[in-house]
Amino acid sequence: MRAVVIGTGPAGITAAETLRRLDPSGSVVALSAEESPPYSPPAMADHFLTGRDETLYWKGADVADRLGIDERRGARVEAIDADNREVVLGDGGRIGYDGLVLASGSSLYAPLEGADLPGVLDFKSLRTATELIGRVRSGQATRALIVGNGFIGVELSLLLADLGVDVTIIGRRGWVMPRALDPVTSAVAEAALVARGVTLRLGVEATAIVGDPTASGVRMADGTVLAGDLIVAATGVKPHTEYLGGSGVATDWGVTVDEGLATSVPGITAAGDVAEAIDRFTGERFVHAIFPNAVAQAPIAAANLLGAGIRYDGAEAMNSLKHLGVPIVSIGTIEAPDDVLRWEDGDDLRAVYLRDDRVIGAQLAGDISAAGVYHSLMLRRQPVGRYGRRLVEPGFGMADIVFDVLAPEGSRPAA
Ligand SMILES: Cc1cc2nc3c(=O)[nH]c(=O)nc-3n(C[C@H](O)[C@H](O)[C@H](O)COP(=O)(O)OP(=O)(O)OC[C@H]3O[C@@H](n4cnc5c(N)ncnc54)[C@H](O)[C@@H]3O)c2cc1C
Repeated sequence: MRAVVIGTGPAGITAAETLRRLDPSGSVVALSAEESPPYSPPAMADHFLTGRDETLYWKGADVADRLGIDERRGARVEAIDADNREVVLGDGGRIGYDGLVLASGSSLYAPLEGADLPGVLDFKSLRTATELIGRVRSGQATRALIVGNGFIGVELSLLLADLGVDVTIIGRRGWVMPRALDPVTSAVAEAALVARGVTLRLGVEATAIVGDPTASGVRMADGTVLAGDLIVAATGVKPHTEYLGGSGVATDWGVTVDEGLATSVPGITAAGDVAEAIDRFTGERFVHAIFPNAVAQAPIAAANLLGAGIRYDGAEAMNSLKHLGVPIVSIGTIEAPDDVLRWEDGDDLRAVYLRDDRVIGAQLAGDISAAGVYHSLMLRRQPVGRYGRRLVEPGFGMADIVFDVLAPEGSRPAA
């Protein structure tokens, strides 16, 4: 097969690798709008702090050469001509395909007036992150305003604070990472952020990014304007679907895919942040823009182009704050629980969200060793009433659930 992959992020390079392995006599062209080798965005903060590349170029900077992938950098796709099965590049060049994987990722985004002003910076790609950090290192930026209190805004605020920037996070909800953390767990993150010098303005509304000709401040609902020389609009992520107009590929927020990650156009699949796949637990389509989903979807999107017929189990929500000083992990959802079990001891805390006697979400701060246990219970949709409060107490672990999760039905000892 002549395969083309759009994007060389975690999803794209994994899809390209899979296609080489499964179809060694075929060809794989992997296109990136950027000039860098395939990289891992979660490693960018460490890269900028330490200057090291090993984890950034997570597959090795020479991965394409090693695997025989025709990797083309600085090759932005402008359109897809699905009738002729060709990808159209910014320079007018065309590349024919038999099978195409869309893995073009996403950008930071905020639905705010002025969010498209010059000088509103992104930190989602290495290209945009390099530009942002370059402004800090050259002394052009000393006061950052991050509109949005989600995961990437929090990670970025920590990096900027470490680089000596005066950082303010502005969030409409009253606590940080409100989609992933409840206010109790969030308080641990907030204390750590404040201790690192980050200013939190939470429970307030930004109405516009202002500045002429470039962004220089954020107007708040009460009319005040906060001044900044580094402004990031990051209330969420927006999948890169702009090149799909006229292609026939159906999009909603992202590219809508079926349970085999196929798009609405034959011969085209999608994976990673660009794909709006089924949520494993709710069954609804959602863009869960995290690394594990990208690298789990990519081999399926690739193999299904070759007719493998593999069903994707569904995406899920999972976040871990790595640079806070206190480990914090969240999995699943905090929406509409029947009950919440909590255990707290200072910065060590666990919260397990339950619905219909099943775990639908969990948050851990400090000792995060039980995250895998809760994840296993979620995956198995295992009833947990038998454990009572023990579920959140220290010491509860895999040994407590091993029979429920691993032993064949009927062989379990009585509780
Ligand atoms: C700072 C930061 C920290 C993160 N930390 C975590 C974490 O701790 N845990 C976690 O699970 N996730 C984390 N994420 C999210 C994770 O990085 C993404 O979910 C993951 O990178 C998605 O991979 P992807 O390949 O789908 O997209 P991307 O990584 O966005 O890659 C997209 C690729 O498509 C290319 N592209 C885009 N448009 C075009 C076009 N028109 N033509 C050609 N090429 C194009 C880009 O150049 C790039 O190569 C983090 C993200 C950031 C930014």
